[in-house]
Amino acid sequence: MSTLATPTLALKGIGASPGIALGRAFLVDRKRVRTPKLRLGPAEVEPELLRMKTAVDLSDHQLGALKHQIGQGDGHDHAMILEAHRLMLRDPMFLDEVNKLISTDRINAEWAVRRVARKIKHMFDNLQDEYFRERRADVDYVADRVVRNLLGQVVDEEVELPPNSVVVAHDLSPAEAAVMAKTSRVSGFVTDLGGHTSHTAIVARARQTPAVVGAGRASEQISPGDLVALDGTRGLVLVNPTPEQLALFEEALRRHEAAEQTALALKDLPAVTRDGWRVKLLGNMEFAEEIPALLDHGAEGVGLYRTEFLFLDRPTPPTEEEQYRAYRQVLEALPNQLVTFRTLDMGGDKMPGARRHEREPNPALGLRAIRYCLSHRELFRSQLRALLRASAHGHLRIMFPLVSGLSELREARTELEACRSDLGRAGVPLGSRFPVGIMVETPSAAMIADRLAPEADFFSVGTNDLIQYSLAIDRHNRDVAYLYKPLHLSVLRSLQRIVTAARDANIPVAMCGEMAGDPAFALVLVALGFTELSMTAGQIPPVKQIIRACSRAQGVLLLEQVMALTTAEEIERCVRNEMQRCFGDLQS
Ligand code: PEP
Ligand code: MG
Repeated sequence: MSTLATPTLALKGIGASPGIALGRAFLVDRKRVRTPKLRLGPAEVEPELLRMKTAVDLSDHQLGALKHQIGQGDGHDHAMILEAHRLMLRDPMFLDEVNKLISTDRINAEWAVRRVARKIKHMFDNLQDEYFRERRADVDYVADRVVRNLLGQVVDEEVELPPNSVVVAHDLSPAEAAVMAKTSRVSGFVTDLGGHTSHTAIVARARQTPAVVGAGRASEQISPGDLVALDGTRGLVLVNPTPEQLALFEEALRRHEAAEQTALALKDLPAVTRDGWRVKLLGNMEFAEEIPALLDHGAEGVGLYRTEFLFLDRPTPPTEEEQYRAYRQVLEALPNQLVTFRTLDMGGDKMPGARRHEREPNPALGLRAIRYCLSHRELFRSQLRALLRASAHGHLRIMFPLVSGLSELREARTELEACRSDLGRAGVPLGSRFPVGIMVETPSAAMIADRLAPEADFFSVGTNDLIQYSLAIDRHNRDVAYLYKPLHLSVLRSLQRIVTAARDANIPVAMCGEMAGDPAFALVLVALGFTELSMTAGQIPPVKQIIRACSRAQGVLLLEQVMALTTAEEIERCVRNEMQRCFGDLQS
């Protein structure tokens, strides 16, 4: 196919999984199902309720079969998503409401399903958190499946993908994403909908397949067989690129592949500066599926496991037993490696189950994280008990998020010890004592880091929140994103204070916010004295390269200069110039 004859089109979306892909478009057309709308006579109500029940049973059976199909091997998290869909099918909020509409409003089942789905989605609309807005799509997947089954349509068709396909879709259901994730024929994903936490994004990151989501009307604008070049880091899609653009992409692809080769070559080498400062590079994860990618990129353990993701995509929280199994699975996948479990960062916008539609006036400053756990003791205890039980199966440590004062740390520790005693008395096997630390991500914790350090076994700085709260900028608000400056003097002073307190108390100090994974900051972080940095898989090799190429002494000199400056712009310029001077090639 000639690329000269067809006009070039550039689309901008959200870079959801890094990397460069070049391939032919394969369109997955998940057409919307037309919903017939009928009024029922009194005698038609009972048969309609039965029809609905049959469609729900069939949907449940199909999801069970799909789960079984992909559940083996690395499909575990996709299987969990499908299980969540099964729970949604049986959720009284869904099922009872549909049956009520059929019985009282006397409308047909398809129409009732759509009305209830719309109502549930509307609750999600009012939530600002991206993850929850994404979950509206799950309601559609479930509703679509039931409606298709009511109409007797084919579901879960197998698609034959040609090799090197860029899958283009309006949206992909978790079932589609999961099944595609099993083939090696997909070189990239482009979807009209979605954000960083949509299923396509999660699947793509876990598979290390470049993906651009939220790309507007891509599925209408791209035709089957079009040549598609996508940059999953910058969120850029070029359709039928010009020869010059194609050459640039091919060059970028070569560079990316070379970087991946370097990553592999670096995998087993330590991140140590030329003058001997050793930094442990750890991985951030939300789902067990990310573990192989972390290991491939040389992660020396997990520095942040965001456990709340186990709780979010379902109507009711997981039981202690379910949590225990999930935590154990992660620990067993990483024998001999340290896994840092962050206890539930729930609340605010991230409400579990039936309470998800409740809103606080200012969620970022509300009943979130450790505050939420301390006021929902049963939920907190179930997690602590699961973690204590899992501790028999690996090397773990736990950390409490959003601690703002010493009392919270003490209370949380007391709760942990109470759970430990209960389990011990009941004869439940437990591992040995593990380190218990805190995330330092509030300005108050940074200010009193010297008082917190003697009672914490380690610190891990959450810069995403620390910056948000220090600079008073909502991290999700695009309008103030220009003020989000990791190198702001106030942030650097906080970091300095935190590291000093940790060093004085002789405890390790880690960073697990996004700042840790940006190679541009590596020299400054080494100079500040961080000994552990935790980031996503793809960020590990570039950060390691900088660390191995620098000396800490050089960083200390830079830090001295930087701390004498005042504006974030001056500091950024100073750091950028030094990085360019020393590591120009490495940074490209
Ligand atoms: C942080 O705040 O930097 C952090 C790592 O936690 P989260 O992004 O999950 O709030
Ligand atoms: Mg945080």
